[in-house]
Amino acid sequence: MCSLALWSLMRDVTAQFTMDDAVLHPGYRPEEGSDEEGLWRMMDRAEGNLQLSRFVVRDPQLNEFISDMICRLGKDYCPDIRAYVVRTPYFNASMAPNGMMQIWTGLLLRCSDEAQLAAIVGHEMGHYIHRHSIQRFRDVRNKAGLSAFLGLGLAAAGAGWAGNITDLALTASIFSFSREQEREADSVGLEIMARAGYTPVAAHEVWQQLLAEQEVSTADRTQNVMFASHPAPEERLVTLREQAELLDGERGERGYERFRESLAGVRQQIVDDELRLRQYGRSEVVFDRLIAQSPKDGLLWYAKGEVYRKRAEPGDLKRALDAYQTALDTDSAPPETYRSIVLVELKQGNKAKARSTLDLYLEKYPEAADADSLQMLFY
Ligand SMILES: [Zn+2]
Repeated sequence: MCSLALWSLMRDVTAQFTMDDAVLHPGYRPEEGSDEEGLWRMMDRAEGNLQLSRFVVRDPQLNEFISDMICRLGKDYCPDIRAYVVRTPYFNASMAPNGMMQIWTGLLLRCSDEAQLAAIVGHEMGHYIHRHSIQRFRDVRNKAGLSAFLGLGLAAAGAGWAGNITDLALTASIFSFSREQEREADSVGLEIMARAGYTPVAAHEVWQQLLAEQEVSTADRTQNVMFASHPAPEERLVTLREQAELLDGERGERGYERFRESLAGVRQQIVDDELRLRQYGRSEVVFDRLIAQSPKDGLLWYAKGEVYRKRAEPGDLKRALDAYQTALDTDSAPPETYRSIVLVELKQGNKAKARSTLDLYLEKYPEAADADSLQMLFY
């Protein structure tokens, strides 16, 4: 069977899904007085809190890009979905039953292009369109009692960077979907992103990348929210790859340039937040992969240098200096690169080299806010 025939067969299967009562139609509102309405109201309140949160990223360029992508993916559902970029350095996106979507900045850092982000967003839309939350809600209510669920549900919906990671993992596991729901979200998500014209293989790539990161991570798997709430990535990788092949996986759009441009205003902050986690092995994998994709990106080379400077294991300071030098050889090194070289050279006792780097820094950036404090290091 040619891939086009399979493609239309899959479309028929999806058409059957939409005939199902379990599927949410565009513009849907739950029946008044129903448990589903209660769940929505709870999420509406959480959304009100989120809207006021200082962790919501307000960058207009990024938000416009995300809205456009949501509408391209969601089509008729577009008016029902409100997306918030939340400053939290972990790989995650979520979608509440009332249409509130959260995209965490750690996910944005880890996506190579728009197609990869579309794969994750499409997956979350799959949970939403198939009303997995209310099914899960009813399931958990019957098993665990409502009060525990309600308290945790609110915490989960409002959780962000401020949230304790143990709480996040716990709430994510309370809100975790069944394996069957995850499989459905995966295939519906793939269908959504492919129909919107994005490259289908991006879906398994993004999981593969997360797995590579996880393999070097010293942190326990339960510390990763996405692993806490989702089945083993090994299994979904295989399935997503097979399904992408049926959809002529390499076709479609990557949206690399647009994705990059939309992140321009927030990239430095996202990189700094990642470094602040002090999970250096994991960060090294992330930055190495991004550098392989954009070898002339000064910010990424600076970030790689920071990983080594902060980790400071044997050989790391030399590695840091090499990375900083490569950053300076590009036309996009952040000014902080000079400051970090000064710090490393001083640490190694190379006062003259530190001095000449500082002079160069102040010559290039006479207004540098840290000029005085750096001068102090030489007294
Ligand atoms: Zn999921």
